[in-house]
Amino acid sequence: MFKDRIFGKTIVNFEKARHRMVEEHLIARGIKDPRVIEAMRKVPRHLFVEEAFQDRAYGDHALPIGEKQTISQPYMVARMTEALDLTGTEKVLEIGTGSGYQTAVLAELASRVCSTERVRSLFTKAQAILNRLRYRNVVLHLCDGTRGWPEEAPFDAILVTAGAPEIPSALVDQLKPGGRLVIPVGDRTSQVLKRIEKTPEGLATISLTGCVFVPLIGTFGWRPEDQGSADGLDHGLGHGNHSV
Ligand code: SAH
Repeated sequence: MFKDRIFGKTIVNFEKARHRMVEEHLIARGIKDPRVIEAMRKVPRHLFVEEAFQDRAYGDHALPIGEKQTISQPYMVARMTEALDLTGTEKVLEIGTGSGYQTAVLAELASRVCSTERVRSLFTKAQAILNRLRYRNVVLHLCDGTRGWPEEAPFDAILVTAGAPEIPSALVDQLKPGGRLVIPVGDRTSQVLKRIEKTPEGLATISLTGCVFVPLIGTFGWRPEDQGSADGLDHGLGHGNHSV
């Protein structure tokens, strides 16, 4: 971790740490899209976690954000974002605002980001930090995102940041022709990150990587009572890694 001394006090140099994270954990591991790399160099991840975790914000691991949820590992954020193929003109839907970090990365890369969260306290905190950082092209909604966001549909890209038992049909329905959906699909302990593109010939699905996410809870996700079974699997600081 980069430490500077200012007026005799040791402080973490978050900017240096962030640039190093991008070099070591993203570029070195194959992230190539220059816009994604630039966005991850810019968004201050440490401001999206509790102060107690800030000096770990630029390590390549997930961190707890309260309510048994986690902010995703930087590599996984970059990998998912890259798979959406954003050029700057898109309207994007995110399911699972959580800390708001991924939302901010998307906001750097798209024209409008609509993000949904089902836990009120996380929604409120994310709203506050995204306002503070002046992301004006973001709207948040407290709801069950497995139903999508019909009033804002259709979307050029949809990103789900929690693990789904299957692909919610509402999300496919809310994709524009040519649109991309990136979603972890599997059981509660591990998933495969899938990229689904709506082509004129039908849905083109590819599997990107193995991963571990907290469960997607809702009408087209896991039942709320299923959430407990995931506890202890991915919330520990020791584990943390979203990629397998
Ligand atoms: N993108 C987030 C990751 C948070 S973890 C970040 O960068 O911090 C996944 C989030 O999905 C959790 O906050 C969880 O509460 C939320 N979630 C789970 N099921 C959901 C649903 N049906 N609708 C909206 N959010 C959901």
